[in-house]
Amino acid sequence: MNTQTIGIVGAGQMGRGIAQVCAVSGLDVILNDVDDETVQRGMGSVRAGLDRMVSKGNLSESEAHSMFARVRGSVEVRDLAACELVIEAATERLQTKQDILKTLDGIVRPDAIIATNTSSVSVTKLGATLANPERFTGLHFFNPVPVMGLVEVIRGLRTSDAAFDAVVALAKRVGKTPIDVKNSPGFVVNRILMPMINEAIFALREGLASAEQIDAGMKLGANHPIGPLALADLIGLDTVLAIMDVLCRDFNDPKYRSAPLLREMVEAGDLGRKSGRGFYTYSENPA
Ligand code: NAD
Repeated sequence: MNTQTIGIVGAGQMGRGIAQVCAVSGLDVILNDVDDETVQRGMGSVRAGLDRMVSKGNLSESEAHSMFARVRGSVEVRDLAACELVIEAATERLQTKQDILKTLDGIVRPDAIIATNTSSVSVTKLGATLANPERFTGLHFFNPVPVMGLVEVIRGLRTSDAAFDAVVALAKRVGKTPIDVKNSPGFVVNRILMPMINEAIFALREGLASAEQIDAGMKLGANHPIGPLALADLIGLDTVLAIMDVLCRDFNDPKYRSAPLLREMVEAGDLGRKSGRGFYTYSENPA
């Protein structure tokens, strides 16, 4: 099937980024979220991303204009009915994702492919929500989407080759390098990355060093481009906690126990950049 129109459910930081790279690659995009305000914030962020490309000399004004014209906002899931491929990029919560997938299943065309951008949840489990799990696959982008080169492509137990091949083709079309990863909690990157971030939060709580010093340690001592606590703020502490909870529960291994400080910060609403406060404070709330 020739993919031209991509539906994206969830206009948060990931949905917006995916919308931007799809539009830049000549695809038409429908960006869906639960309310108009969130959709408009998402659209504004896509526009700002394209403007940044113009100011860096990577796009002309008119190219950015026609790319942005390819992105349409939506608050009704049925707007996605004609899409050849729909990417679920909503909050990292099992029930939310299952509800969305069930709704999508009854709305999108029967030959459409449905993918999830989940960071951790079993693609097989999510696929079981659909009448036809063969058309379902994992397509895991990284944050910020326009910058990061990787996409993990994950087969569920019932994923068809056609669905898998379609999302590999999409990943390549939007300029990413796909890696073929088995379905397992957290897949590859988050299985390794999240315990490191979690350990940094334990270290902070134990007073081993300040947040700035922990981050400087990992930047200068391990050559990471960003420290683990600043990275947690970028990802969203709610998402980090949700991923740790999936790792702990699905591996049934206490080595993945989330740091109590992480949970407490999420309870306080300190989610990182998207709420304006996490391990650091942010004067501008980009969400
Ligand atoms: P986010 O909190 O920025 O955005 C989530 C969006 O989903 C919100 O705008 C919310 O309104 C929307 N949403 C919730 N329920 C919905 C529904 N029923 N219909 C439509 N929209 C709905 O989160 P995010 O960081 O964009 O993460 C989204 C997904 O991408 C998660 O599964 C997350 O694990 C995954 N992911 C996140 C990162 C990261 O670094 N943040 C990286 C890779 C993958």
